Amino acid sequence: MKHGVNLKHRGCLQKVEFMKIAILPGDGIGPEIIAQAAKVLEALRREGLPLELEYAPIGGAGYDASNDPLPDATLKLAQQSDAVLLGAVGGYQYNALPRLLRPEQGLLRIRKGLNLFANLRPAILYPELANASSLRSEVVSGLDIMILRELTGDIYFGQPRGVRTLDNGERQGFDTMVYSESEISRVAHVGFQIALKRAGKNGLGKVCSVDKANVLDTSMLWREIVTEVAKEYPTIELSHMYVDNAAMQLVRAPKQFDVILTGNIFGDILSDEASMLTGSIGMLPSASLDANNKGLYEPCHGSAPDIAGKNIANPLATILSLAMMMRYTFSHEDIAQRIESAVRKALQQGLRTADIAEAGMDKIGTDAMGDAVVATLLN
Ligand code: NAD
Repeated sequence: MKHGVNLKHRGCLQKVEFMKIAILPGDGIGPEIIAQAAKVLEALRREGLPLELEYAPIGGAGYDASNDPLPDATLKLAQQSDAVLLGAVGGYQYNALPRLLRPEQGLLRIRKGLNLFANLRPAILYPELANASSLRSEVVSGLDIMILRELTGDIYFGQPRGVRTLDNGERQGFDTMVYSESEISRVAHVGFQIALKRAGKNGLGKVCSVDKANVLDTSMLWREIVTEVAKEYPTIELSHMYVDNAAMQLVRAPKQFDVILTGNIFGDILSDEASMLTGSIGMLPSASLDANNKGLYEPCHGSAPDIAGKNIANPLATILSLAMMMRYTFSHEDIAQRIESAVRKALQQGLRTADIAEAGMDKIGTDAMGDAVVATLLN
């Protein structure tokens, strides 16, 4: 249920909607980084943002609570919420469990249960962290691109698949790449809408659709449908690129891109490649959206059991995931930008967790970074 209320922010009244957010901390560093994002939410709530926050277990925590990595109550809460903020799942202690009870199953099932088909992964390089990238700083500094990966189709889900025995006794593995017109067009629309949001007032953005249309029939259909959808977005420039070239261009000249729109398997590979351009996994947020912009927001990294409980994890990817939530689910560009600029200011002040600190720099803990972001947010 949503209803409008008036929020007093910096002297002016704004109309905002009630926001019901499910918070799923998960395992390992999950609870530590989520606690910092929760501080940001609490600060916004104290300002008058109408937030309803409810916590539930997932992953190993779900298994510990009710022998299920995605307890029914957790899925129900997520389905009834406008957005979900997730920490991370996984831990050594669950490695011996049968596959269906392992923490990662909780993640796969919640994505499916929420019909999330569009995965957004920005790759942004903050000038303060330019040295963290393995590429030369002139190639990557100021990088700000968005990879949009279709999440529910393609060769990962196509049928038939399996391993069969041929007449000569040899075994043969096979998978099927499939995309229907409706699957392509719905993710293409998301791509163009993201480009519009990123472009701001002038609406002049770019979408580069990545495929392998020189050899794959699925890609030829992909290209045809994306071209069709593009006609509805005349201010957005559409280009097409083969995936092998895109992989090369991402490391050669990544700043040529704005939004990269692609299918599941190509997106899986390219989004990992793009995320590494920024050099620091602790800085990378992500969003997975359904057809109504309801979303699951989470850092790209895992539960980092090697550093869990030590108060050294970087909470910024999780806090930046919150900014994406404000932008994509709640259409609060102003709040999204405030959160992002609070993170930037904390970096400008020289504050670093261990993973992003250069040699000789002082390091601060997870908690202190969360406090610093809240302080700059309110400043
Ligand atoms: P990981 O991302 O958890 O860790 C990789 C490396 O990055 C580790 O050295 C870790 O200490 C470091 N790291 C990760 N996040 C960090 C942060 N915020 N701040 C500082 N350093 C950070 O990947 P992994 O080690 O391959 O996997 C660990 C567990 O996480 C496994 O159980 C895996 O299945 C799970 N996992 C979960 C998700 C998810 O919940 N979305 C994603 C990937 C992996």
